[in-house]
Amino acid sequence: MLPSHLNGHSPLARRRPRLSAASPPAAAAGESPAAGAGATSTADSLEEHDRIYFQSYSHIGIHEAMIKDRVRTDAYHSAIMHHQKFIEGKVVLDVGCGTGILSVFCARAGAKRVYAVEASEIATQACEIVKANNLSDKVVVIHGRVEDVDLEEKVDVIISEWMGYMLLYESMLPSVLFARDKWLKPGGLILPSHATLFMAPITNPERYEGSVDFWCDVYGIDMSALVPLAKKFTSEEPSIETIGGENVISWPSVVKHIDCYNFTVEEFKCITAKYKVSSMMLAPIHGFGFWFEVEFNGPQESSHNIPSNLNPLEIIQKKRRRSSEDTVLLSTAPEDEPTHWQQTILYLPDPIEVKQDQTVEGSVTVSQSKENPRFLNIHLECSTGGHTLVKDCAMR
Ligand code: SAH
Repeated sequence: MLPSHLNGHSPLARRRPRLSAASPPAAAAGESPAAGAGATSTADSLEEHDRIYFQSYSHIGIHEAMIKDRVRTDAYHSAIMHHQKFIEGKVVLDVGCGTGILSVFCARAGAKRVYAVEASEIATQACEIVKANNLSDKVVVIHGRVEDVDLEEKVDVIISEWMGYMLLYESMLPSVLFARDKWLKPGGLILPSHATLFMAPITNPERYEGSVDFWCDVYGIDMSALVPLAKKFTSEEPSIETIGGENVISWPSVVKHIDCYNFTVEEFKCITAKYKVSSMMLAPIHGFGFWFEVEFNGPQESSHNIPSNLNPLEIIQKKRRRSSEDTVLLSTAPEDEPTHWQQTILYLPDPIEVKQDQTVEGSVTVSQSKENPRFLNIHLECSTGGHTLVKDCAMR
């Protein structure tokens, strides 16, 4: 992900800068099998990918966007206060502390010691922030990758804000899992504890008309020769944008429910799920929307897991019940307050008309790219009313 000024987006509009400014046109529609096999990262290129990744986090704009996202920052603060009894007098590891905000929250909540680990240059400012708030005796800022640091002790709590677009983009979760396996004491707390990726077919006529139909009449000029290019452009890369609940045409389907106490790096590499949903209206499907939520539970509360075989209504009801009870929940769903993650939309080149109660089914596979493990490859299959389509794209 390059800093956002290099890809034309305002730094405040996007938190996670894209890792590449522009993809080579031939490769933009996803890794072909040949490119995928041939483009496997070597140790050198992995280092280079990480250098670009961490450099992107040395810019203030990205930290401003994250901290100003009140839904996000309030959820972390609430989660820390919710678990204050557990955190008091304990040792915390903040994986990717950025400016140090979560470490300061934990120290203020009574942690005995906080190891604030940050690989990007923003660690210098995090150190100054800790000093300015008289917390140098409690918060130890370590400039380095969590995979490389040596702590003096094991920790009781791991906190991290690792979620990228579509939950998995930028592949930071494996670093948290590494830290868990190496540094977390048995029975320790991981915040957030659970993450769920959802998907649903969406309709968005305004967006489609604005990008595709637009070319049919431009200042009275027929520019429809551009329509095939516009369709290709709109659908070849996932789009990060905010939609509303009214754009979602079925109950969502769970792509993956991750229990951070037990999930493995191996499982992260390739996530695949089948879906079968029923359209709630007569509408054109313009694409598929993806969003996520994370929860902040203790290890003993893992039974709060949402089994993926629950029907969507039960999932939503369970979620609503829990968020009003004793769990802190951070949601990026279209029906909830917008966050800087927005939603991730995979547009189809051509809309598919569906009737009310029509079944839409298929599968989705989200895998780490071989070319750059911080990128995602998405493979989507969809069947409905006699139409079948297969879509491959890459999120770079
Ligand atoms: N915790 C901060 C920043 C979250 S963004 C906040 O909530 O505001 C994620 C941060 O993790 C970035 O600053 C990034 O540079 C850092 N990071 C990602 N992977 C890391 C790793 N393996 N080791 C150390 N820092 C990492």
